[in-house]
Amino acid sequence: MKPENVTIVLDEPRNLVNIAAVVRAMKNMGLCKLRVVNPAEWDPWRITGIAHRCNDIVDDTEHFLSLEEAVADCTLVLGTSARSRTAQRNYGTARAWGPHIVARSLESRVAIVFGREDRGLSNEALDRCDGVIVIPTDPRYSSLNLAQACLVVAYEVFLAGGDPDDLPVGKRSQGPADRARMEEMFSALEEGLHALDFFRARSPEAVMRTLRTLLSRAEPDLHEAGIVRSMGYAMRNRVRRLVGSVDTGTEGSGQDPAAE
Ligand code: SAH
Repeated sequence: MKPENVTIVLDEPRNLVNIAAVVRAMKNMGLCKLRVVNPAEWDPWRITGIAHRCNDIVDDTEHFLSLEEAVADCTLVLGTSARSRTAQRNYGTARAWGPHIVARSLESRVAIVFGREDRGLSNEALDRCDGVIVIPTDPRYSSLNLAQACLVVAYEVFLAGGDPDDLPVGKRSQGPADRARMEEMFSALEEGLHALDFFRARSPEAVMRTLRTLLSRAEPDLHEAGIVRSMGYAMRNRVRRLVGSVDTGTEGSGQDPAAE
């Protein structure tokens, strides 16, 4: 994606707080080009007071007197609307439009147009759009706040632009357990359950098959598989000590090398 080619256009926004929240949403999602058509208020100082560290977007904002001019240099113009109206248009969800927006941004400018808070985009404005983005909602209350709508659309564009690879990685995540570790885990669990007499009225094969299915679905990492294995050994060792027949030192397979 080329973020500098994805332009957010606000048509006659009424409320400065909404403008600021749009700026902030853009910043969160890596967008930087804002155009405004006849805003009711425009006060960079107040906007950046709400949208901290967003001066670059605010300073760079372009002002227009008509929507027509604001989108004139864009090769893909998408309106946004809560209501699907009677007219036949190219409606699509933000998720469906995302990849088109990203692809088109690589070569030319795209506009995503948001309507004013009290009445949205007019039919004439939507006529000038190539398509319409609809954010699916409860049909009984379908109209989002302007900035929230902008955030959802910008988020979908952001995701379509490539999976963010900086998701937080848990400190202990150590990569998936390999087959050998998985088998150690299962056999430790089986020993533990045996010690508890869990299989007295149950088939060990059936129970173990269920546990295999369950734990495989969880795709444990090395650390997690180690914990479950240790649980199995701990159960076994504890029961043996309780019944006074323990000699863990003679057990070949039952050592827990990674006792936690
Ligand atoms: N009362 C207006 C709502 C305007 S909300 C109406 O009924 O049309 C302000 C803007 O937020 C809308 O013009 C549109 O750009 C955007 N928006 C709000 N809800 C949306 C939704 N569900 N899908 C797409 N855009 C939405």
